Amino acid sequence: MDGTARYCCPACDRTLPADRPLWRCACGSHLNLTPGRGLARGQIAGAEPSLWRYRAALALGHPPRVSLGEGWTPLVERSWAGVPVRFKLESQMPTGSFKDRGTAVMLNHLIEVGVGAIHEDSSGNAGSSIATYAAAAGLPCRIYVPATAPRGKIVQIAAAGAEICTIPGSRQAVTEAALAAAGDSFYASHNWQPFFIEGTKTLAYELWEQFGFTVPDNILVPTGYGSNILGLDRGFGELERRGEIARRPRLFGVQAENCAAFAAAWAAGADGYVAFASGDTVADGIATMKPVRMLEVLNAVRRSQGGIVAVPEAEIGPALAALGRLGLFVEPTAATAGAALSLLLRDGTIRADETTVVVLTGHGLKATEKIAELLGI
Ligand SMILES: [Zn+2]
Repeated sequence: MDGTARYCCPACDRTLPADRPLWRCACGSHLNLTPGRGLARGQIAGAEPSLWRYRAALALGHPPRVSLGEGWTPLVERSWAGVPVRFKLESQMPTGSFKDRGTAVMLNHLIEVGVGAIHEDSSGNAGSSIATYAAAAGLPCRIYVPATAPRGKIVQIAAAGAEICTIPGSRQAVTEAALAAAGDSFYASHNWQPFFIEGTKTLAYELWEQFGFTVPDNILVPTGYGSNILGLDRGFGELERRGEIARRPRLFGVQAENCAAFAAAWAAGADGYVAFASGDTVADGIATMKPVRMLEVLNAVRRSQGGIVAVPEAEIGPALAALGRLGLFVEPTAATAGAALSLLLRDGTIRADETTVVVLTGHGLKATEKIAELLGI
């Protein structure tokens, strides 16, 4: 570990030490962390059954002050359309979604640099993750959520003792409300604060270790803001620079066709936001109108020689049902990755003899009402 982490601003190029709670640059842009040094396989704390086994690679100054045992999630093999596939069960985190990787590392950093009360906006999973870890750390916490967020997620936030502000309208309206409150308490935004990506990068380390210190050919990830894509890119980049891996997996960002900012930019060959038509989607966790790090996510996908896949709304329910029958009960957002794999196998982008990982980002118990509706239960 080292406590000398630095922020760099992609817009104005300034760098500054990560020694105080910050969520963006003075110029208004998001901040990134400078490249990490990674670790060699001999530096893994092998007795630690959580993401903290990779703490030598994390840009923190101290051992974690708050942990709920996040990370080191199962990687299970199942057959999908007759093809062997590994499913990474990020749904089996302390709060039931992959967000706990990012939250745990981000909050431990913020605690190190002296944060007080925090707030956040979320479609649900990040909110319940941050509310839960704030509770574990004893930090006051307020979460802004869409009025339409699944009830299970709102209940989870409330049970952690966080104050809930329910905002009518779009997901973007929820973000605007949280931005407007940024003077009152610290805006611990998982979409802005780069230590969240420092946490999600441990997914790359974990897959590398679980594949016997090799990497799979393909990784499919439900993508709203792209924190898992950015974490995978950062983690595999560090391992590549350390000489631990010789190549990177292809990364496929999966979106719901009804709200697909990255797919629109991808199809246009653009480096940033392009206007697109949007509608309702059952995949509430990835219904993002304006991703923060658009260019970085597109670059990460291009660097990996992967792609962005938009899944038709009608294919999400059948994918969720098929996953359930494999013993994998996930929320609709996570099911998009299964639907995307079917598309990529069908069009030959992914071949049966390749090793493929599907990241299942959130548990089905998060969204039982939506799932009941979707499957006619
Ligand atoms: Zn700047």
